[in-house]
Amino acid sequence: MGGILLAAVIVVGFVAVGRRSALRGRGRAELESESTSGSATTESSVDVAERPGPGTAAPPTDTAEPATVEPEVVEPEVERPEPRQSRLARLRRRLAGSGNALSRGLLTLLSRDRIDEETWEDFEDTLLTSDLGVGPTTELVENLRTRFRVDGIADPHQARGILREELIKLVDPSLDRGLATQRGETPAVVMVVGVNGTGKTTTVGKLARVLVAEDNDVLLGAVDTFRAAAADQLQTWGDRVGVPTVRGDEGADPASVAFEAVKAGIEQEVDTVVIDTAGRLHTKAGLMDELGKVKRVIERQAPVTEVLLVLDATTGQNGLTQARIFAEVVDVTGIVLTKLDGSAKGGIVIQVQRELGVPVKLVGLGEGADDLAPFEPEAFVDALLETPAAAA
Ligand code: GDP
Repeated sequence: MGGILLAAVIVVGFVAVGRRSALRGRGRAELESESTSGSATTESSVDVAERPGPGTAAPPTDTAEPATVEPEVVEPEVERPEPRQSRLARLRRRLAGSGNALSRGLLTLLSRDRIDEETWEDFEDTLLTSDLGVGPTTELVENLRTRFRVDGIADPHQARGILREELIKLVDPSLDRGLATQRGETPAVVMVVGVNGTGKTTTVGKLARVLVAEDNDVLLGAVDTFRAAAADQLQTWGDRVGVPTVRGDEGADPASVAFEAVKAGIEQEVDTVVIDTAGRLHTKAGLMDELGKVKRVIERQAPVTEVLLVLDATTGQNGLTQARIFAEVVDVTGIVLTKLDGSAKGGIVIQVQRELGVPVKLVGLGEGADDLAPFEPEAFVDALLETPAAAA
């Protein structure tokens, strides 16, 4: 009985947050037109009318103020996310300017007049320290050695062209990197999974901005109910771009929050529901139960169209081990590689794709709100081959 009561309270909470935020989520013009037609003010008027309580029934005294109370219309302060083109241009420059180990190794190879055995060995070492992985490193070096020998390298420009081709081959441009975020009969549902600290919540927030910038209606589900701060953090991201967040109380069943989020998404006819999940890597069995249940419960209402695994590019082999566990638990459809800016090692892009057989779809290139970019193999390779000075 107590359980039913608690569930009812939580559901009311969900609806309230969704509804309030949905209002916040709509455009200013729409809100203004509503305020003149009366519907937006109704809520505030009801609020105001209810507050005085029983006293309102008493006849007004001489000293009473006239009963007209101007309802307060709260102007939403909604940020406009950075448009796609300028975001991409900025992030490409940042990738090129990051001067990571892979980039440095490639440039060193190209800067040598003669490529002797020692140069090849140094090159191989650099590829390995950039987290390219043993298989892809061996493959790249062998292919380059063969092609440099067969084609006969006359100048660095030619060497660069061959290197570019071989790297693009390794990154595999044939993989489908599109995000399934378009609604069908029901909203698209994107589940974002990964270990805590990898940048999951930040990625959900950034992804919401990308989708909003592309004119999608978005709703967020804060399914990490183990940490109250996680839901607050997510809601702040949503509020900034006028996107509603459905959340439960701390300790609520994650699957029930996910269910309510998708339900609200269907009711509000949004294009995309993005679900931020809990990332405690306690035990594999626990994780499996939890994520599996979240997915199953969502799919009672709408198919999960995308499962994005967030991976911190700076965590190297440890990150890959975590990624493998998640991939066993849920059907991952794409990888988001965060923290590829700064000290990250670009080779991980290739290794993680090979290991999991899933494409890197997005990359995080900074802590800024719009520092998330689609992963584009050719632009990535070009950025690696660009000198930091040229990229500045
Ligand atoms: P979660 O626990 O997986 O949800 O991780 P958070 O989203 O809270 O992020 C953890 C930290 O990583 C925060 O300080 C983020 O600002 C930071 N972060 C996330 N993505 C990136 C990125 O692409 N680049 C950098 N430099 N920092 C990032």
